Amino acid sequence: MPDLTIAIDGPAGSGKSSVARRVAQMLGYLYLDSGAMYRALALKALHQNIGLEDEPALVELAKQTHIELKPPTTDKERAGAKNCVFLDGLEVTLAIRTEEVAQAASRLATIGAVREVLVAEQQRAGVGGGVVMEGRDIGTVVFPNAELKIFLEAAPEVRAERRWKEHQEKGERIALDEVIVEIRERDLRDRERKVSPLVRAADAVLVDNTAMDIEETARLVVMLAREREKQ
Ligand code: C5P
Repeated sequence: MPDLTIAIDGPAGSGKSSVARRVAQMLGYLYLDSGAMYRALALKALHQNIGLEDEPALVELAKQTHIELKPPTTDKERAGAKNCVFLDGLEVTLAIRTEEVAQAASRLATIGAVREVLVAEQQRAGVGGGVVMEGRDIGTVVFPNAELKIFLEAAPEVRAERRWKEHQEKGERIALDEVIVEIRERDLRDRERKVSPLVRAADAVLVDNTAMDIEETARLVVMLAREREKQ
């Protein structure tokens, strides 16, 4: 069986991470969360008090930063992590999962030269196939030749509720209304930015999982992957 490259893109809360991780488990593939790289870099920028409008400093920071994604350890997986994330050798798996970091990540993700650095890393990490990578531009920019591209969608209120539930499970108090605003803001920025905006690749399969759970969505993607494997 050939090892495919599977690209899963979609907006926040569309279930990308859970679906991509489950698909990778079912196929015995490597799972890579590209958003975690933007988040890790954003965390470093916040810690170093680098302004999110300071493009030259952020590009320099990206070039000097080493981000590594590894399969999750059991305790991190129990805490909801799908990859263990290391920033310059230090683990930041849980530290990057805040709304502050998410917003900062989506701001620095608008800078083309920052994206170039991270995209090159992502391409290196996924070389050779047998990989499920998820993000916003995987099917359009990172792996435009991926054998299977999925664009995951779900109704905005369902996406916000999923994200809100994740916060609740982690014991974080945040109002649903606040999550709705956060997701709307981030989606708009991701869809309307000039460089590599969140768009469905022409050859991506659109999967709306508003009324589907993770397992059903993952099984559908695996079915599509099996078909592609035969081609
Ligand atoms: O997927 P996640 O919500 O963790 O991504 C955080 C932010 O990183 C997104 O809102 C988006 O702005 C950015 N991102 C991106 N391209 C990717 C993955 C994430 O621009 N491939």
